Amino acid sequence: MKSIPFLNLSTIHDSISEDLNSAFERVVKSGTYILGSELEAFEREFADFCEAGYSIGLGNGLDALRIGLIALGVQPGDEVIVPSHTFIATWLAVTECKAIPVPVEPEDGSFTISAQAIEKAITSRTRVIIPVHLYGQPVDLDPILALAFRHGIKVLEDAAQAHGARYKGRRVGGHGDAVAWSFYPGKNLGAFGDGGALTTNDLSLAESIRMLRNYGSRQKYEHEIEGFNSRLDPLQASLLRVKLRHLDHWNKQRLEIANVYLEKFSKFSKYGLLVPTLPSWSESAWHLFVVKFGKRDQLHRLLSEAGVCTLIHYPKPPHLQKAYARLGFKLGSFPVAEKLSNEVLSLPIYPGLSLHKVNKISQCVIEIITKD
Ligand SMILES: *Cc1c(COP(=O)(O)O)cnc(C)c1O
Repeated sequence: MKSIPFLNLSTIHDSISEDLNSAFERVVKSGTYILGSELEAFEREFADFCEAGYSIGLGNGLDALRIGLIALGVQPGDEVIVPSHTFIATWLAVTECKAIPVPVEPEDGSFTISAQAIEKAITSRTRVIIPVHLYGQPVDLDPILALAFRHGIKVLEDAAQAHGARYKGRRVGGHGDAVAWSFYPGKNLGAFGDGGALTTNDLSLAESIRMLRNYGSRQKYEHEIEGFNSRLDPLQASLLRVKLRHLDHWNKQRLEIANVYLEKFSKFSKYGLLVPTLPSWSESAWHLFVVKFGKRDQLHRLLSEAGVCTLIHYPKPPHLQKAYARLGFKLGSFPVAEKLSNEVLSLPIYPGLSLHKVNKISQCVIEIITKD
C-alpha cells in the first residue's frame, strides 16, 4: 500500500486556502507587521476559546513557558517542579531562568504527573509547578491547584499539546495561574512558522507578560522592566484566526480516530499493547495517540516496512540528555520516564486522515503484535 505519513497538514490547509490567502493579503495591505489590531483580535478570540480572561501572543512555546515563569516571579536558584517525561522545552524554560528543575515521575497509565507525586517534591524553595497536558490529555488539575494554594506556590500549565482539551467540562487555559501554548505548525492549532501564547485570568499578570514580550515596555521608549522581544506576528495571528474557527471540528476528527484505535486495540492488552487510560473528567485534544509496547522498536520498524509512519515521543528523557549532564542525573534516576522512552509509540492521528486508513493502520498493528 501507499505509505501513510505520520502527519499531513496539506488536507486541512487546502480546505481553507481562500480564507488563508485573504487573511494574508489583509495583513500585507494593512502596513502593521508587529503588534496591532490583528494580533489583538486573535488574542481576544483565543482567550474566549480557552474560557480564559486574557491571552498574550508570544514568539513560540518555549518563550511562553519562560516568560510565564518570570512573570510568576521565578528567580535564579528557585525550584520548579517539572515532569520527568516531557518534551525538553518544559525543562529548558526553567534552566533559562537559572532556576532548578525538580523532576517528578508521571503516572504510568496517564503519562501525566499527579498531586500525590508532586507533594513529595515540594521544598521551601519551590516556586512553581509545571504540569504538562502531554499528548493532549489534561492533567488532574484540581488536586494540584489545591496543593499549590496550600503551599503558596504557583501553577504554570504547559498546554503546548492541548488546544481544545477539557478538564471537568471546562477548557484547558483558565485553570492555573498561567497557561503556556505553542503554535508550532504540527500542534493542534499550528501557525505557518513559530508562535506561542500565554493565557491567564489575572489582569496584572497579563500586563506584566505584555511588557515582558515587548522590551519591558508599555509605552514606546519607556522600559519599566528588563524585557524580551517575543511577539506573535500579526501575519501568524491572522492565519491562526482562520484556523481557530475550525479547531473544534478538527479535534472532533482526532477524537473519531482515537475511538477507532481504542476500539480496535481493546482486546489486545493480553499481547502487551497498552492504550491510554481515560479518566471520566478528561476530554483529550488527542494531539498524539500513544500506545505502549514492550518490543516497541520492532513494532516501529515493522510498521515502517508496512508503510505506516510512526514516531516516538520521546526517545530520550531530558535528564539523560547531554545538555543536562551538569545536573548529575544518570540512568536509573527516573525509571518511569526511562521505561516510557523505551515503550511509547505514536500512531498517525490528524484531521484529514480517513477512518479507512485508520482501520488499515490498526490491522497492521494487530497483525504484527499477534504474530510472534
Ligand atoms: C511543542 C512543545 C513546546 C515548545 O513549543 P515551541 O513552540 O516549539 O517552542 C513545549 N512543551 C511541549 C510539551 C511541547 O510539545
